Amino acid sequence: MATILDGIIVRDHIREALKTAILSSLQAGAPKPTLAIVQIGALPESTLYIEQKKRFGESIGAHVEVVHLDEESTAQAIRARIATLSDDTAVHGIIVQLPLPSSLQPETQMIIDAIDPKKDVDGMTSTSRTKLAAGAMSGFLPATTRGIISLLAYYHVPVMGKKFTVVGRSALVGTPTAEALRAMGAEVTVAHSKTPDVAALTRGADSIIVAVGKPALIGAHHVSSGQTVIDVGINVMGVHSKPEDELPKRHIVGDVDAAAVAPIVKALSPVPGGVGPLTVASLFQNLMKAYTESQQRK
Ligand code: NAP
Repeated sequence: MATILDGIIVRDHIREALKTAILSSLQAGAPKPTLAIVQIGALPESTLYIEQKKRFGESIGAHVEVVHLDEESTAQAIRARIATLSDDTAVHGIIVQLPLPSSLQPETQMIIDAIDPKKDVDGMTSTSRTKLAAGAMSGFLPATTRGIISLLAYYHVPVMGKKFTVVGRSALVGTPTAEALRAMGAEVTVAHSKTPDVAALTRGADSIIVAVGKPALIGAHHVSSGQTVIDVGINVMGVHSKPEDELPKRHIVGDVDAAAVAPIVKALSPVPGGVGPLTVASLFQNLMKAYTESQQRK
């Protein structure tokens, strides 16, 4: 039976390390690391994610400032507000909470590119993306990618010289994860919706990363013994149109059919409790990196 790669344990280690580092900076008279989250509109799901980030930030002694902008704001006005945050020396990291309201979505990258790359703690600016695509790991890794790498490192899953198949090629998860693994010396294959035989690519890998958003996409025939499988998928189940009192309880599953895969592979990250808890922690590791680098520039 597979070893379960528990992300909560890793998250708690990261939290403690960040807490200690921030405390010692504060004791040395340095300012609080500060993250600015720009929220455009008020999508309830986004508000929930922002609350999560605030709670984590406060638990480690960082300051999280939420900058609310109206849904009707123009891309130019949003860029101007972000530019002010970029110039503000009291702000060390900036993120734009995605998704943007639908009218602004075509301008997402242009808006994100107003963030000073030195403060790009989500690793989403064109500068950060280009750097990672060129194989440099010295910039900011997107939080989910950083979380996946931390999970692999904590459980001593070898990367250098190993075959990885990444299922999913989104700009948010699949692509930066494949690029980071490649930069770390892995031989990486990427599968996507047009891949004719995903199982042929996953079965031969040493490790598999799945980031698609389809429950039970990866089953027993996709895996083989000795593999590590990281399930990034988050699928909310139990939502349908029955009356409230008949609704089954909502629960979250990944992209991997864990019951079918766990008896075969060596290690598997659960959903929930695998990569998910690490994403917020990774964002604050990036904030700490931005903060430390800004202190060193002084
Ligand atoms: P996305 O933008 O929708 O991308 C999904 C990717 O999966 C695309 O590249 C798509 O291929 C590919 N795909 C779709 N059907 C496929 C199939 N049958 N076989 C192989 N590949 C297929 O999603 P995302 O933002 O990357 O997120 C992926 C999942 O991770 C979602 O469940 C999301 O909720 C979750 N997630 C989790 C975390 C976390 O912290 N744990 C963070 C972010 C996202 P094409 O490019 O060809 O369309």
